Amino acid sequence: MSRAFNFSAGPAALPEPVLLQAQAELLEWGSERASVMEISHRGQAFVDCAAEAERDLRELMGVPDDYVVLFLQGGATTASALLPLNLAGPDASADYLLTGHWGEKAIENARASLHTRVVASGKAGGWRDIPDPATWDLDPKAAYFHYTPNETIHGVEFRFVPDTGTVPLVADFSSSLLSEPVDVSRFGVIYGGAQKNLGPAGLTLAIIRRDLLGHHGRDLPPIFDLGNQARNDSMFNTPPTFAWYLVGLVLKWLKTQGGAAGIGAANARKAALLYGAIDGSGGFYRNDVAHAARSRMNVPFFLPDAALDTPFLAQAQAAGLLGLKGHRAVGGMRASLYNAMPEAGVQALVDFMADFRHRQG
Ligand SMILES: *Cc1c(COP(=O)(O)O)cnc(C)c1O
Repeated sequence: MSRAFNFSAGPAALPEPVLLQAQAELLEWGSERASVMEISHRGQAFVDCAAEAERDLRELMGVPDDYVVLFLQGGATTASALLPLNLAGPDASADYLLTGHWGEKAIENARASLHTRVVASGKAGGWRDIPDPATWDLDPKAAYFHYTPNETIHGVEFRFVPDTGTVPLVADFSSSLLSEPVDVSRFGVIYGGAQKNLGPAGLTLAIIRRDLLGHHGRDLPPIFDLGNQARNDSMFNTPPTFAWYLVGLVLKWLKTQGGAAGIGAANARKAALLYGAIDGSGGFYRNDVAHAARSRMNVPFFLPDAALDTPFLAQAQAAGLLGLKGHRAVGGMRASLYNAMPEAGVQALVDFMADFRHRQG
């Protein structure tokens, strides 16, 4: 058997050179004579490794000095609950723009902690587009504005940064972290789980403008206080050390790919190739998302008859193409084209799709 092209939505494919390096140094890491998994997070070797990952991330994303970078546990879901607690008091109100499943989850996780308002929602349209900004009901006094730059399940992605005036943007970038250059200074908070674009599950990244922390006026348990985590370099308790180390390797790999600009160009080529194959299939394959909001990372598509889904998936798997089954809420197929998916993988997918279509006559 050999490794296949893995289109899983998450946890997702990792760069092969990263896995090979992790394998080679799994038993003895550096000069430790033990695995990176087996040593103290407070020892100099791991502290250096953690700091280097943060430096590389800051360099790759261009994170300004007035932002803290946190490496947390709990996933994006936990972060979506901790951020409301940390960014404002219980009497404050926060705006949420809903463009899919994860925005809905985020507002559910905020409701217990402050007032929430839905600025606009794409739900009535089946999450196929971003509501026109001219229709957004923005609150100029909102503590923050939350949105999901890339909705992983429905494949809806912002190709612009919302303009909310002085209201800080809080963005769940779980499925598009470091997939292209982003102007971090436009955001109050960028957060996301690592398991789509940056590494294995278990590590959550939060990049927070420093002045937004510490004004919640709440009596928070220290472990839930992100300002406290920042003061402790994300080591108030044991961080997910192996995931942190592996994210560090992925960041080094991203540098060999031309950084955010280089990987962004490759991601654009991959998405163009797949959408081209879908749109050029004479209607056999279909993606229903408004063109301007089509995701570069997650491409849901449908066959002309759901009865073809099972043979499509079985034959794709036999051809070495994994993880193409669509989310149960959407059905059909979904191909996730995160950073670690090589262009050859997308080429193999579109070749298979053309072949499958022709075999259907
Ligand atoms: C996967 C995903 C999540 C959920 O992440 P967890 O780490 O499982 O909590 C949240 N938001 C987006 C956009 C996602 O893609």
